[in-house]
Amino acid sequence: MLTADQTVQLRERLETELSRLVASASAALGFTMDRDRDRVGRDSMDESTEEELYSTQLRLHDREARLVGKIREALSRLKSGGIDECEECSEPIGFKRLMARPVTTLCFECKTAREQVEADEPLE
Ligand SMILES: [Zn+2]
Repeated sequence: MLTADQTVQLRERLETELSRLVASASAALGFTMDRDRDRVGRDSMDESTEEELYSTQLRLHDREARLVGKIREALSRLKSGGIDECEECSEPIGFKRLMARPVTTLCFECKTAREQVEADEPLE
């Protein structure tokens, strides 16, 4: 169980991360709008470079969108008081670990065990 002080620290950590991601997502959106506006009058050489840049930006955006979802989940677990409970073994997750990885749902032991299992699986 987290203390009131730890809960506040963790909420600030999550909210800082969330606003950073939202700011970065808005920047990505700006990039998309610029791209559409500048489309007229480009030659094909420019276009392929731009395509590449654009797809990189989209992947980044996708990754960020998933992280935003995870942070929102973490905030709701924080509210309900379950954020420091491991979803696998129900043991408490250490406060230090939560501050380092606030979106985690596993204690260190379970995370390590899961990573070993995942390492045996073929890559995508
Ligand atoms: Zn665990």
